[in-house]
Amino acid sequence: MVGDALDFQLLLASARHEIATLLDDPRLSTGLPGKRGGALRDHVLDLIAAVEHRMAHGPGGGASQRARSAFARSMRQSIGVLQGAHAALPWLEATRRPSVNLGSLYVTEEWARILVGTDVDLVVVPDPEFMYATTSWPFSAVINETPGFTARNTRRPVVLNYPLSDADRVLLHPIFAHELGHASVDEHHLVDAVATELDNDPAFTTALEDTVNAMVAGTGLAQTQISGMLRGLLLDWIEELLCDHLAIEIAGPAFMWPFALFVLPHGYGEVGREHPPNTLRVRLALEHLARRGWRPYMDRIAPEIMVWLDGIAGDATGALDRLFAFLRDQLLAHANVLQDTASRRTGADALDPAAMEPAADEAAGLLERLILPVGLGNPLDSRAILLGGWQRAIAEHGDHPAGLVEALTDRRLQELVGKAIELSTVASAWKPAK
Ligand SMILES: [Zn+2]
Repeated sequence: MVGDALDFQLLLASARHEIATLLDDPRLSTGLPGKRGGALRDHVLDLIAAVEHRMAHGPGGGASQRARSAFARSMRQSIGVLQGAHAALPWLEATRRPSVNLGSLYVTEEWARILVGTDVDLVVVPDPEFMYATTSWPFSAVINETPGFTARNTRRPVVLNYPLSDADRVLLHPIFAHELGHASVDEHHLVDAVATELDNDPAFTTALEDTVNAMVAGTGLAQTQISGMLRGLLLDWIEELLCDHLAIEIAGPAFMWPFALFVLPHGYGEVGREHPPNTLRVRLALEHLARRGWRPYMDRIAPEIMVWLDGIAGDATGALDRLFAFLRDQLLAHANVLQDTASRRTGADALDPAAMEPAADEAAGLLERLILPVGLGNPLDSRAILLGGWQRAIAEHGDHPAGLVEALTDRRLQELVGKAIELSTVASAWKPAK
């Protein structure tokens, strides 16, 4: 019977076994050389301590069946999460020996500091089962739901997954900026900020009411059901779009080009499971880039690609089901809210076209001569090197969609870009003592 003496015996023995297996593993038991991965390691140790706290505070002899069942449930949850924590062992290993291009890792760490905060612990790991994805606080379910237990770690661990085959595709890695957007949105409650602004706009609330009423009449579903569904979708779409906007803030056009080549093969104007149609994403991304002053640069570097992207953006207003059309129309009408929310987050750390264009031109010019684009005077900004890399890639592989794809197969160019970012990061961080 659940919660009887034999059930407890099994659960406590299993939990002890999982804890011992984790603690015996040198990847967890050995301390890490630097700060990288330290918060993730502490987070796993917090998980173990939380489960031990639960085990020490189990129900006594005279406890009710209700209390015994509740404890059995909490132990089953603990064991599940402890088993899941084995996934963190290769993550910790990856922090000692990063397999992603080191230049990419440095620029991604810079993005993480801007978007999420200075106390972020970024762990970048390849995973054959994952596409690009991020998880923050992976084991907090048990830690936060253990009454009376206080976690030691307060630094946010962020695990960023990418397909191993993309480890050296430096030009694709601005996609990481979107992924870090998810951690940023979560840490700073940015979806709520946008939703609140919409809710304060009578034009939005009136349109929402009309849509819900029309759908109640059309489907026979309850009002609460429809508005709940609509709300869920709206929040999902806002989050995805905000991540695009945040990525544009910190990477500029170096995000737009890989973004287009990454998402458009998967879908065009149709609605994804949690993602808005790509036509809408491209439209809002281009509007944000234009507002941030990037359009003249992009038209200079890739005029044909911009004509192609403009065409896709034009298709954003095509026919959609009523519910999706409502979301699309409202988000287009409130594009400024998404833009402002992203800009407020990045502040002075946003990429500035006036400063970046000459630096990107310099990097692209050096790459053309196969010279490491670190900069002839002061080291170039790592984000300008990335931008210059795309600039050179488009010049070399063609100002058309297939040219973007071919750029990713150019190992020599991406090696130079990655190495230059690595060197410029080291040079900028190293300040001689006075
Ligand atoms: Zn996303």
